[in-house]
Amino acid sequence: MTFEGAAHGSVTVRAPGKINVALLVGRLMDDGYHDVATAYQAVSLFEDVRATPADDVSVSFAGPIATEDLPTGNDNLAVRAARLLARETGHDGGAHLHITKRVPVAGGMGGGSADAAATLVACDALWGTDCGRDDLLALGARLGADVPFALLGGTAIGTGRGDQLSPALSTGQFHWVLAVSDTGMSTPSTYRALDAHRERHSADISPASPAPTVPDDVMHALRSGDAVALGEALTNDLQAAALQLRPELGDTLELGEANGALAGIVSGSGPTIAFLVSDVESAIDLQVTLSAAGHRALRVTGPVPGARILEA
Ligand code: ATP
Repeated sequence: MTFEGAAHGSVTVRAPGKINVALLVGRLMDDGYHDVATAYQAVSLFEDVRATPADDVSVSFAGPIATEDLPTGNDNLAVRAARLLARETGHDGGAHLHITKRVPVAGGMGGGSADAAATLVACDALWGTDCGRDDLLALGARLGADVPFALLGGTAIGTGRGDQLSPALSTGQFHWVLAVSDTGMSTPSTYRALDAHRERHSADISPASPAPTVPDDVMHALRSGDAVALGEALTNDLQAAALQLRPELGDTLELGEANGALAGIVSGSGPTIAFLVSDVESAIDLQVTLSAAGHRALRVTGPVPGARILEA
């Protein structure tokens, strides 16, 4: 993507966090990932990455999310994204990445993936490396299973590790209230808890088992923009594992569902709880109730676009 005028200044790119409105987990594959089928919805909680020319690649953070514990070296997903793009395009130079972080860290909403997606688009424009969308999607998949979706945005079905995307039809806007935890959960730990549970219950999934698929009722509800139907169809195979690791999330789910939510679901690998509500008024009411009970509650809508340039 060429962006005139970016060569001397900086480029700011906005990328969304996501909710998995369906997450089906199949067998553990040889590469250590699970075979999944998921319906992603990009929601209006955004990461902004400002890329400024520099000799090397570095990162800093600002915004409402505590980020002291985040790696700032080569383990940072945004740094890895910039280095990968430079290496693959032969670009000789770097960028300082200033990230305004709003998506909870290790919250199951793909915040680090959004940073990586935004960085790919920002550095591609800043450096004039002119990668097409498909190349950026392929680079994204090498950085993490959720990165391609943060590039694409909207509503999409992800299979394989979640990175093989096909856009899905979705009508209208869905309203969500998020109950955000201060302490994150590690994605691998939640998957390990699911594996251990399946082993205990002799529910191992054999290589011959069919690959998971997103249920038809989820697809229909998205296509018709029917929040009540989507509420009934929300599904997450990781939810029981997340609740086992964090039993108090069960109380949060009950509180939301008793106070106007159509349904609640653990987002991805947790611990964020996403409540689907019918309209903005119900969203405000639920946000007030959750806040009064001591939760950090945010209102978002979806779907929203994927990583896009805000300014240069
Ligand atoms: P997933 O995409 O697996 O659902 P998540 O949304 O639960 O992930 P992230 O916030 O993306 O979680 O981060 C998971 C871990 O990745 C963090 O604990 C952190 O150590 C590491 N990490 C590396 N770079 C970043 C980044 N730019 N932002 C957030 N976390 C990062």
